[in-house]
Amino acid sequence: MTFTPHGKHLIAGTWISTEDTFVSAPVRGTSHKFSVGTPDLVAQACAAAEEAFWEFGYSSRETRSTFLNTIADEIEARGEAITEIGTQETGLPTGRLQGERGRTTGQLRLFADHILKGDYLDRRHDIALPDRTPLPRSDLRMMQRPIGPVAVFGASNFPLAFSTAGGDTVAAFAAGCPVVVKGHDAHPGTGEIIAEAIHAAVEKCNMPKGVFSLVQGGDLSVGQALVQHPFIKAVGFTGSLAGGRALFDLCMKRPEPIPFFGELGSVNPMFMLPEAIAARGEDLGKGWAGSLAMGAGQFCTNPGIAVVIDGSEADAFVESARATLSELGAQVMLTDGIAKAYTSGAAKIGAQQGVQDLLTSMCDQREAKPFLFKVSASDWLGNHALSDEVFGPLGLVVVAKDADEMHKIARSFDGQLTATLHMDEDDTALARRLLPVLERKAGRILANGFPTGVEVCDSMVHGGPYPASTNFGATSVGTLSIRRFLRPVCYQDIPEAVLPVDLV
Ligand code: NAP
Repeated sequence: MTFTPHGKHLIAGTWISTEDTFVSAPVRGTSHKFSVGTPDLVAQACAAAEEAFWEFGYSSRETRSTFLNTIADEIEARGEAITEIGTQETGLPTGRLQGERGRTTGQLRLFADHILKGDYLDRRHDIALPDRTPLPRSDLRMMQRPIGPVAVFGASNFPLAFSTAGGDTVAAFAAGCPVVVKGHDAHPGTGEIIAEAIHAAVEKCNMPKGVFSLVQGGDLSVGQALVQHPFIKAVGFTGSLAGGRALFDLCMKRPEPIPFFGELGSVNPMFMLPEAIAARGEDLGKGWAGSLAMGAGQFCTNPGIAVVIDGSEADAFVESARATLSELGAQVMLTDGIAKAYTSGAAKIGAQQGVQDLLTSMCDQREAKPFLFKVSASDWLGNHALSDEVFGPLGLVVVAKDADEMHKIARSFDGQLTATLHMDEDDTALARRLLPVLERKAGRILANGFPTGVEVCDSMVHGGPYPASTNFGATSVGTLSIRRFLRPVCYQDIPEAVLPVDLV
């Protein structure tokens, strides 16, 4: 089944085209024309979303659960066509797109079950104490309520699981919030076919039409109009630090500031503790190289920095990583812009004081090859540019002279999505010393694993202190991600006949 995009926006159930068009830039296959998004379309979508909220925001959990499962069914029904256009547009391999589709429908079904259980409502009840002295207590109940329309920016690096029907959209729908998606230009056809699946589910489940809109492409004014629209009550975003920060600032400057849940940059440091590296340095080097180069390094959890303690064991780890990376071929990147940013980012790291090239590569246009660099802890500690994310398969080894210096490095990191300890039993004392530091730095801490591969489950935290995310109290993966689109409301002495159904 081949899908040919018509290139229109989906605004509250109607496919709309605009005069201007842009042409998609697939890695292979045919380019297609897409209508360019405008602030006017954003305004139409937001007005329809606000209208839809009056019904959708007060729908039963059963209704929304059915809606989420129906979206999953509609995505599955288009499975092969989604993979075909997704691989053409992004250059990601077939297996990756199939896996990501499973993850996307899995997220939908997970949330469909999650809201039925009702725990996410966090219902509390302090019963009235009319005889309490000196003052009686009222009857007080609390419950989480949906916040209103949510804006979602599709991510370039997860065309399914973090885009049109990705984690942000699904969590918002589960909470009861209509969604306006700004599609990513890197995969507009994939966005369109997923929007078609959501549209079909809206029709089948008789949802209000404004519950979902997709605005394609456009210049920066589209995203800016979206986050500033007065009907939008929160934003979900995955992308660059610069773009995310600009949009965050706009959200804060609004007459009514709103939360901006941005997942931005992270270098996901790994701390290679001495006993582990002595016992299995070579394997760890191979493992790191595999994780670093997976998907051309275009994962937010890519472990870009490995911290070692100087010595021959560390050398063996580094040599194993270098040898493994040097055998890897070129991989196509998501967009020309991302490929360009990768090569210039690599050149910038390579030019820093004290940085030693271990593996440098020539990258051709949209193709990336791995880079590996090494630097002493003292040079790294004195140069913040060396802790910037380079999006792609680039590794930097930071060499500490001893455990104290490794601890100092840990304390110097900015906020991270993940931090990893590679350790053996005899490393326990150092690991215990590092853990309190890493807790302050990262949303997820791993032992003896690689951070690429984020489980979608109840305990997952995919977030962390800035700049990993703009809101350290939140996660964008897992069932806790619904909390971003809810707010607590306290009901004082409200008669049961008036209370929301879920609270009685
Ligand atoms: P991006 O440039 O941040 O763009 C993401 C989305 O935000 C796009 O829809 C973009 O619109 C919009 N946007 C960005 N800046 C904006 C602004 N000032 N005003 C209004 N809208 C704005 O991210 P990207 O295109 O995905 O990739 C670029 C770089 O982001 C990569 O090289 C990588 O460094 C980083 N990235 C990081 C992660 C991560 O998980 N940490 C994931 C993906 C990308 P336009 O398309 O119209 O510009």
